[in-house]
Amino acid sequence: MNAFVDTHAHLCDAAFDADRDAVIARAAAAGVARFVEIADSPDDWERAAALARAHPDVARCALGLHPYYADRYDDGFLARLRAALEAAPEAVAVGEIGLDYAKAQVPADVQRRAFSALLAAGRDWDIPLVIHCRDAYADLLPMLRDVFDAPPARRRFHGVVHCFSGTPEQAQDCVARGFALGADGPVTYKKNDALREGLRRAGPDAVVLETDSPYLPPQSTRGKRNEPCAIPEIAAALAAVWGVPVEEAARRTSSNAAALFGWP
Ligand SMILES: [Zn+2]
Ligand SMILES: [Zn+2]
Repeated sequence: MNAFVDTHAHLCDAAFDADRDAVIARAAAAGVARFVEIADSPDDWERAAALARAHPDVARCALGLHPYYADRYDDGFLARLRAALEAAPEAVAVGEIGLDYAKAQVPADVQRRAFSALLAAGRDWDIPLVIHCRDAYADLLPMLRDVFDAPPARRRFHGVVHCFSGTPEQAQDCVARGFALGADGPVTYKKNDALREGLRRAGPDAVVLETDSPYLPPQSTRGKRNEPCAIPEIAAALAAVWGVPVEEAARRTSSNAAALFGWP
């Protein structure tokens, strides 16, 4: 059976309060052997770590500050994040962090200030980064270039640009900077040829699978709550893009995820 990794899920979301354990069991039954729980703000850090701790064979977590909450960044933030990471051995990344010029209420300059500090901290602490970027690639790429002027040394990737939604050229830029690309439900939507072309060019050694549950359901469940058992549908779409069997897409994206998070 395939062993997929869902590299980006929000299973602590209230949308899963009624049936969280069933969702995790359904993922395992669908071949999703592992997932990474993403905490968007300090309010979620402890819960995300506790969820990962409760499922040590299948879960890890990332602790971050989503651009929606970037105005909560202050002088003491990095020290608090560092302490939370040290208290949670199940935390394998900082994230999500990033820029969102589409939906975030926080002004762009406030987002950039928090994001650049968090990028530099991730580099200095040698921990992978989970990056959220919506309608902000023109600012993202120079910021990545400023902070990461060399290819990753200890790992294959500095981090992942999750839910990649840029152009094919931007996909290649992110990969050239040492970042993996996260592919999720939208890769299955009919209209998204440019997205598929970017992921095709990036190739199966630079892409990881994710659902962003409960958001971004693939074509077959559009409009409904998304969950990690949707990963095989996303993998099948990518396998078609790359012209490889789905087993190979599973194997290579899972190997990328292991390298990304240092989770062998
Ligand atoms: Zn995101
Ligand atoms: Zn997310």
